[in-house]
Amino acid sequence: TRQFTRPLNDLANQWNTLLSAIAGAERVFEVLDEETEAKDEGAAISLDKVEGAVRFAGVSFSYDGGANTLQDISFEAKPGEMIALVGPTGAGKTTLIGLLSRFYDPNGGSITLDGKDLTSIRRESLRSQMAFVLQDLFLFKGSIRDNIRYGRLDASDEEVEQAAILANAHSFIMRMPDGYERMLSADGSGISQGQKQLLAIARAILANPSMLVLDEATSSIDTVTEIKIQEGLQALMKGRTSFVIAHRLNTIRSADRILVLEGGRLLQQGNHEELLRQGGLYSDLVQGKRREAAEVEA
Ligand code: ADP
Repeated sequence: TRQFTRPLNDLANQWNTLLSAIAGAERVFEVLDEETEAKDEGAAISLDKVEGAVRFAGVSFSYDGGANTLQDISFEAKPGEMIALVGPTGAGKTTLIGLLSRFYDPNGGSITLDGKDLTSIRRESLRSQMAFVLQDLFLFKGSIRDNIRYGRLDASDEEVEQAAILANAHSFIMRMPDGYERMLSADGSGISQGQKQLLAIARAILANPSMLVLDEATSSIDTVTEIKIQEGLQALMKGRTSFVIAHRLNTIRSADRILVLEGGRLLQQGNHEELLRQGGLYSDLVQGKRREAAEVEA
């Protein structure tokens, strides 16, 4: 599972680097801009208010100009919908997220946000509308307060605490010695995996994005914390278009739309009942008929 989630973490780490860059070190941003990422067009626009309607139309993508990693992907996400990405390792889920967040641009077809082509939107502007909640939270050496505030650097102490309350993180923070002033190390020693996730949710709530990318946890977390996380996620996802790389059947079942990917193709899309009725890869994964079903946990 670690291996499975790594590429998304790599993307998000680049993202974090970018965010820090936006916050201060312009030069880093420019370097990354030049070297690793899709370029902004000269006339690229900045977004104002985003509804969060996403549309992929016949999207194809190749990393190296060779065989397509994604082939002819078409789907629509309405504002506020939750989209679950399901499929075996290597299916293209992370790549799809990479396109959505403009780490790469498609080789064919188009992606639009609120009807605007993504390639016409400044990446910095797009990213201010997105947040990532991943299994491995990016933490830095500093107080819990500052680690949450990373979601929006100009947030007040009250706003930080309000976000923590909504995320269900406030009570565990208050039980820590020093509460919000508790110092964390970059590896997060001293807090549990579940508590890290609650901090990640608080950070994302504070960022108040229109779009979310979530990589659902697979590590075992105690039931009480798990319930807190689920509630925190509900609060976070409400009213935001969310893309979830989902591992749990419960999560997948509650998605508005499930995209079933294999070998870079979108094999099936629909909600849980529709896909079960269709038969095929989805019902095989859910019923554990495929080895890759290890990634869908009942
Ligand atoms: P998933 O997230 O579903 O496991 P990925 O999107 O990570 O799938 O990978 C899809 C395919 O693209 C895999 O064959 C993978 O090896 C390949 N791939 C992923 N990232 C890169 C990259 N940066 N360069 C070249 N190939 C890549």
